Amino acid sequence: MTDVRQFAKNLNDFLEYKKEEGFQTLEISPETLAALKPTPAQKPTASTEGSSTEGSVRYFNTPNKKYENIGLTPSSSQSSVCVTGKTLEEIAGQIRVCTACPLSGSRQNTVPGEGNPNHPDIMFVGEGPGADEDAQGRPFVGAAGQLLNKMIEAMGYNREEVFIANIVKCRPPGNRVPLPEEMNACVPYLKAQIALIRPKIIVALGKTAVQGLLQEEIAITKFRGTLCTYEGIDLMPTYHPAFLLRSPGRKGEAWADLKAVLAKLGKEPPAKK
Ligand code: SF4
Repeated sequence: MTDVRQFAKNLNDFLEYKKEEGFQTLEISPETLAALKPTPAQKPTASTEGSSTEGSVRYFNTPNKKYENIGLTPSSSQSSVCVTGKTLEEIAGQIRVCTACPLSGSRQNTVPGEGNPNHPDIMFVGEGPGADEDAQGRPFVGAAGQLLNKMIEAMGYNREEVFIANIVKCRPPGNRVPLPEEMNACVPYLKAQIALIRPKIIVALGKTAVQGLLQEEIAITKFRGTLCTYEGIDLMPTYHPAFLLRSPGRKGEAWADLKAVLAKLGKEPPAKK
């Protein structure tokens, strides 16, 4: 794949994501546009060189769940960090000094994640820090975080009872979608966190969270609500709260996904006060 084709693919992925989020028009800053340009490390792979996906049905790392092939190619693999931390604190310390991808250059704070580390019922995984999260070094503390808090409370939990983290631990400039190489560089931290925390179920918030974990490109509007597994842990994809703020008409679908999570845990939503 030539640089021009790679750039076109990155731009197309970005626009498709924004379209799924409900945007009808977009202003793309020169900064975001520059970030979509392929880096020398962004080599084409067999999967992005025009090879077709096999058959009409695809499987994730879950043998008992299938979903419709939506005609998109799997994401490419890139170099990633080697996690040496053996505890959540050590991993957070490694993240704090990490310079494995260009996002380290523009961050104020890293955002490793927070919450109940002792096998909580639920771990929420989002895309990456925004401005508020970058300023505070904590996940989901802005407007989307307020909605996530309400979603958690509607399920009968509070923030301290679940764990909340993101695919990338540093804020992408201008809140753009993290690039594949940034996600692939950073996701070993999340994997190591999940291995230590061992939640009963993971709720992946939005397309990027699903892609970062499952290494497959999906359309969240089609894939949400599809219970699958990640490293032996149940995983429920649903909408990102930021998307729900822009598309409140989709909240019913997200609530259906969260109720399915509760059902999987053998629980019901608490009665409304
Ligand atoms: Fe390191 Fe992740 Fe931050 Fe990139 S986003 S610098 S991989 S911690």
